[in-house]
Amino acid sequence: MKYLLISNPVAGKNSKKKTKKIASYLSSFGAEVSIETTLYKGSATNLAAQAYSRKVDAVIVLSGDGTISEAINGMAGIDVPIGIIPVGTANVFAGELGISENIYKAADVILRGKEKRISLGVINGTYFMLMASCGFDAEVVSSINLKLKSKIGKLAYIASAAAVLRRYNFPEVNVCIDQRREYKGSLVVISNAKYYAGKFVMAPHASTDDKFLDVCIFTKRGRGQMLRYLWGLFTKRHHKYKDVVYVKARHVRMSSVEKVNVQVDGDPFCRLPADVSVVPKILRVFCP
Ligand SMILES: [Mg+2]
Repeated sequence: MKYLLISNPVAGKNSKKKTKKIASYLSSFGAEVSIETTLYKGSATNLAAQAYSRKVDAVIVLSGDGTISEAINGMAGIDVPIGIIPVGTANVFAGELGISENIYKAADVILRGKEKRISLGVINGTYFMLMASCGFDAEVVSSINLKLKSKIGKLAYIASAAAVLRRYNFPEVNVCIDQRREYKGSLVVISNAKYYAGKFVMAPHASTDDKFLDVCIFTKRGRGQMLRYLWGLFTKRHHKYKDVVYVKARHVRMSSVEKVNVQVDGDPFCRLPADVSVVPKILRVFCP
């Protein structure tokens, strides 16, 4: 087996040592491993796209969700599977697939070679594997202090959320589902995966195996409402709230007259408008 191992040296729980350990672990089973290190934002996309020309059997990403998200954008459509060794801050995608945060157990999943095909979301031409959303959470993600994140990890998101909650004016977002149904909301989360921001279940009915994205539209605006929604997410009841719309969709269009930030797979992405759809079963991924 020939593997292209993409390592992000600044991922939450990564280190040079870990990269070497995993490479030699895989090699001990007879695999040929070439290590590439991500050097700039977007470099995992370019590296993963070389999988075909370098004739590797699989791409392995040793990093967090951000780097995986970049890598799938180099790979969707190339008929090469991706393996995940989760060493990021939250590792939401690994959790979704049932891949252990123990790096050797994660490597064993790749060595065993069992894979499945999963669907991906597409937003304004870019693939995502977890979710795309606009409103409060995108504002939190775009306001995060990256230095603080490298020091205290997940807690940096709470600090950012507290600051955004104080100043945000919760602009109204127009949502159009499958070119038919129209809604208005303040936070719109379009999920390919069930999990969100770690262990929270944003979209309990979502499946990466189906032809749909699961959309949560939090319809009311304001600080008090947002706190209630966050409590709902925390207690796994938000999708039952009367003022939360939960629908399955193949296409979602979001727009606003105000400037509204969009985040994709946990990183800042763009501002509205955004066009979101799903490509069924496009990515091969190693799973337990
Ligand atoms: Mg789905």
